[in-house]
Amino acid sequence: MAAMQCTLGGLAQLDTADLDAVMRMNEACLAMLLDPVLWGWMLGVTVVCILGGALIGWIKGRTLAGIVWAAVLGPIGWIIVALSPSRLPTCPECGKGNPASAKACRHCGVNLKQSAERTARSRLKGADSGGSW
Ligand SMILES: [Zn+2]
Repeated sequence: MAAMQCTLGGLAQLDTADLDAVMRMNEACLAMLLDPVLWGWMLGVTVVCILGGALIGWIKGRTLAGIVWAAVLGPIGWIIVALSPSRLPTCPECGKGNPASAKACRHCGVNLKQSAERTARSRLKGADSGGSW
């Protein structure tokens, strides 16, 4: 009889009435689960996921959320963090994120406070006049 392999094909061919075969399959699966190479890969993948999440979170101004989501959900967590609203003040002129403490846009140099007030006023004006511009 061929050596047991913990694969879907092996499981499909497994005769569940044959207790010996079930035990050997069990052992094969356990050996695979305890394989340090697999754990090495899992660890590596997890670290890459967390680093990616930390990077995306950092861009969004929520590094911790990025790390947590990526650690729990991996690349799906990246998407969640990437789609979540940024905590950083975005420049009304160029639309790029800035550090929360920034007074001027680090991308185009516009004064964020003044510019935000101007934008809010022009939005109000736009709403008053029907909003088409
Ligand atoms: Zn800007």
